[in-house]
Amino acid sequence: ETPGERVFEARESICPFCGVGCGLSYDPKSGKATGWRAPVNTRGELCPKGVAAFDVVDHPDRLTAPLVRDGDGLREATWEEAFERIETAFGEIRDRDGPDALFFFASSNCTNEENYVFQKLARLLGTNNVDNCARLCHSSTVAAMQERFGAGAMTNSLVDLTEADAYFVVGANPAENHPIIFQSYLAPAIRDGTTLIHVDPRENATTKLAAHHLPVRPGYDIPLLNAMAKVLVEEGLTDDAFLEERVSGVDAFVAALDGVDVDANAELAGVDPGELRAAARAYASVERAAIFTGMGTSQHHCGTDNVHALLNLALLTGNVGKRGSGVNPLRGQNNVQGAGDVGALPNVLPGYAPVTDVDARERLAREWGVEPPAVPGLTEVEATHAFGGGVRGAFVFGENPVVTEPNANRVAEKFDSLDFLAVHDLFLTETAAFADVVLPGSAWAERGGTVTNTDRQVQRMRPNADPPGDAREDLAVLCELGRRLTGLDAQFDYDSPEQVFEEIARVTPQYAGMSYAGLGTGSQRWPFPEGATEGVDVLHRERFASGDRCAALRVVEHVDPADAVDDDHLVLTTGRVLQHFNSGALTRRSGLLTRLRSEDALQIHPDDAVERGIDDGVRVRVANDRGSVTVVADVTPAVRRGTVFATFHYAEPLANALTGDALDPVSKIPEYKHSAVRVTVENAE
Ligand code: SF4
Repeated sequence: ETPGERVFEARESICPFCGVGCGLSYDPKSGKATGWRAPVNTRGELCPKGVAAFDVVDHPDRLTAPLVRDGDGLREATWEEAFERIETAFGEIRDRDGPDALFFFASSNCTNEENYVFQKLARLLGTNNVDNCARLCHSSTVAAMQERFGAGAMTNSLVDLTEADAYFVVGANPAENHPIIFQSYLAPAIRDGTTLIHVDPRENATTKLAAHHLPVRPGYDIPLLNAMAKVLVEEGLTDDAFLEERVSGVDAFVAALDGVDVDANAELAGVDPGELRAAARAYASVERAAIFTGMGTSQHHCGTDNVHALLNLALLTGNVGKRGSGVNPLRGQNNVQGAGDVGALPNVLPGYAPVTDVDARERLAREWGVEPPAVPGLTEVEATHAFGGGVRGAFVFGENPVVTEPNANRVAEKFDSLDFLAVHDLFLTETAAFADVVLPGSAWAERGGTVTNTDRQVQRMRPNADPPGDAREDLAVLCELGRRLTGLDAQFDYDSPEQVFEEIARVTPQYAGMSYAGLGTGSQRWPFPEGATEGVDVLHRERFASGDRCAALRVVEHVDPADAVDDDHLVLTTGRVLQHFNSGALTRRSGLLTRLRSEDALQIHPDDAVERGIDDGVRVRVANDRGSVTVVADVTPAVRRGTVFATFHYAEPLANALTGDALDPVSKIPEYKHSAVRVTVENAE
């Protein structure tokens, strides 16, 4: 070290990508990212994305100074000019149209402290218009689990889940999307005898270890899950003692099953009735069975009801409140759980108290000096739809909605219609291209704070390098914006992430007993009540988190997908691959990851390909009324007939140009997983 050089406290940080939360260390001297033995990746292993995480930090495309719009282009500016432009524009919009004319995109890829300060900024400005991309992945899961169980999170811990006798994985592909969970926890248990049942329209890396595969038609999970419930009741596979003690609404639910025909439902869901029955028996006839659920379940306009149908199975079989069981959403980004925990949502405050809860608002007012607004704000897609109308200005903090939101051509038009847009990011993303002001962000290796992983473990990130050029640490930028936009200097006077974390613990009951120092290089799991010595691994043991002894069974009816499909159309369903992440804004800039997978491909069944004269490897046009893209065809029996699969990692081809924006009425999650498309050889139309 040279005199005056900043000395960093320690090297241990957390991977910036998925919700597994692997330990990752950055060495600026060697320029390498390496794993360390953190609470989740206990052997220090990383998947390819973790290995490539350094590519993001040191990338030549990094923004190193603020940019401001000057005519049709963006030019470099000082921080003062950039802050002043935001202050002036947001002030004018707020004075003219009110605070609800502003919208704030928080980020599930940023720390708890950053998200907390960000939602505080929005609320102290007078609006609950703050949301994060959890809206787009698991908002339906959280809505259903919060309502039925009182907590919208994994019911169990990864460690106790290794004790399960059966895994029921629905709409998720953990072998590729949560690779360290799969290789460190699930796969060893499966090799030791745990039965894997996989529900997915595609055979993928997860299916390879499955004893049962149900290749469900996208959009038809409810007929499948209701049929499984009927099998459990018909064959006496329910846990009657658990139903007696912990479940309400049993008689009405069982009566409603009279209307369910297992064979007819299996046919509707596109699966073999015998396999469906076998899967139901495999799930219900063991002592401990755990459900894992992913975006294949949640991203439908009936996403909340899909999850309700899953919760019914867990309740019927008594698979809640004990080790190796439960319902376990696999979260996408490294802090998607935490962003919701600390209140970066339009309908709830930190700790998930509704904004309509007078007592909760008054408690927060005692901490903030100002009461947050009582009217729920807009969700992410609702807000984009209101751009140019009721919403005139937006701040996007570390997200890329122009690529990640459905009906992307419409989204781009909407962003163009804003009076003012500020974007804070590492790169000039597709969204930043629409901005009036772009602020350079700090990468994972340049920031401190905490993130909360998929099994509710809070872990610390630590800075190991300074942001490049004039870029600053994100938390400092947000605090400066908070002071300037609200005028409430004392509310944004934080010296460190630790100070923010202390405030989070004061206002977020789930985090009440945690301390920043106590996290060390380990983790603390929520709920961690005040005075406790450790967090709770298995939720809902004696009572549900709602406080009730019983949770109710829920009759759930199928509704058809929003897009009608005729003989000319196939169903596009989207998902992820091992090598890339979300909008690809980070991973498409990695040399390693683009070498591993350089472009997208459309999986199409051989029979569908033959009907359309499509050979493997040719370019095809995929189109509907919302948009049109071209992509290489991957002709494979891995995807079910009538369904095609593409990833959402690329700006070109942009899969979300084709996806629809029909929203689930409860959670407002869009229906990404079922879009009617025509597929033809390129230039054949
Ligand atoms: Fe990072 Fe997830 Fe890979 Fe772990 S599994 S290294 S958290 S992307």
